[in-house]
Amino acid sequence: MQAKILIVEDERDIVELLRYNLQEAGFKTDYVRNGADALQRAIEEPPDLILLDLMLPEVDGLIVCRLLKSDSRTKHVPIVMLTAKREEEDRIRGLEHGADDYIPKPFSPREVVLRVAAVLRRLKVGRETEETQKIRTHGLTIDLDKHQVQTEDETIELTATEFKLLTLFARSPGRVFTREILMDVIWGQEYYGIDRTVDTHVSRLRRKLGDLGRHIETVHGVGYRFREV
Ligand code: CA
Repeated sequence: MQAKILIVEDERDIVELLRYNLQEAGFKTDYVRNGADALQRAIEEPPDLILLDLMLPEVDGLIVCRLLKSDSRTKHVPIVMLTAKREEEDRIRGLEHGADDYIPKPFSPREVVLRVAAVLRRLKVGRETEETQKIRTHGLTIDLDKHQVQTEDETIELTATEFKLLTLFARSPGRVFTREILMDVIWGQEYYGIDRTVDTHVSRLRRKLGDLGRHIETVHGVGYRFREV
């Protein structure tokens, strides 16, 4: 079955460029030109992924992203944001508002196609592993029922926090997690710590994983990600 991509962008040239390339790559496409239509379309005809421009008339792309991610009818739909501004801050804000990935403009259509395919692929992997309650990746087996992590020849003892971090990373290889998101997920909204807390836990986790610890990569100035397979 072809995956359907909903493009949310007001610039017609860019819409046409995206549609052409996505269709060539075997995706179905749909498009709307503003945030209000995006919300309505996503509810009425749920797409498999939303390609959302940051710069939209009336309602800003970040707000659209937050609304989509807070509505139970649309929150499961992955979002890839197109960010016109090159500033790091905008990208981080996109991720904080729940986007699954971002692509800075100007982009190559090929890059968009590859990123879209990668997000869809990693979500599919995530769903399959949820059923079996085990995540297998990079030579690690994470047993979610038993709270156990194993390599080929040993069991690794992790604290509850380290286990949470590793599970989060391993569920979304390639996704960048900011320190703020990690603090939210691990300690909840109530926590007002400093960034170093996250760094400390991540470096301990890396050490315990030994050789495999290299798969947790530092994204300079942003946070961490688990290397894609
Ligand atoms: Ca735009």
